[in-house]
Amino acid sequence: MKTYQKFTLITVILGLIIPLLGLFIYFFVNSIIGIPILGLFLGGALLIGILIIAINVAGLVVAFKIKNTKIVGIALIGCGAALFLAVQFLAIPGLILFVIAGILALKEKNPSYNLKERNPEYDSTQEDGVVCLNCQTMNLKNSIFCNKCGQKI
Ligand SMILES: [Zn+2]
Repeated sequence: MKTYQKFTLITVILGLIIPLLGLFIYFFVNSIIGIPILGLFLGGALLIGILIIAINVAGLVVAFKIKNTKIVGIALIGCGAALFLAVQFLAIPGLILFVIAGILALKEKNPSYNLKERNPEYDSTQEDGVVCLNCQTMNLKNSIFCNKCGQKI
């Protein structure tokens, strides 16, 4: 798992636990008071809760499903911004965490171009390889078939 993915996972877990805790406290306070004094806010709180969950799930999907780290980075920062728009000042910790995760993703080298990591057999002294047209994996210079997907090069 990449650093930005770990960071996104932590961000999302915190982002989901805190609203749930808030909801729990809300019901707890209500049950003590007896009167749904906070009931006026429930509609808005539910909407914000759904928004928070949607944004966090979107962040998680982006971090783990999209391979292009540039897109992931921008999307994660976008999630932070969306969270801030939805929850405003309470979302500042989430915003900061999402922005850090986004920057980490942007700094991440795109795996397609990282030969040594992707292909351990690749000899670093060999200057040029062959890029597979099917999956964009860099292969050894004289490869006939792609090392990753098996496509004929
Ligand atoms: Zn391939």
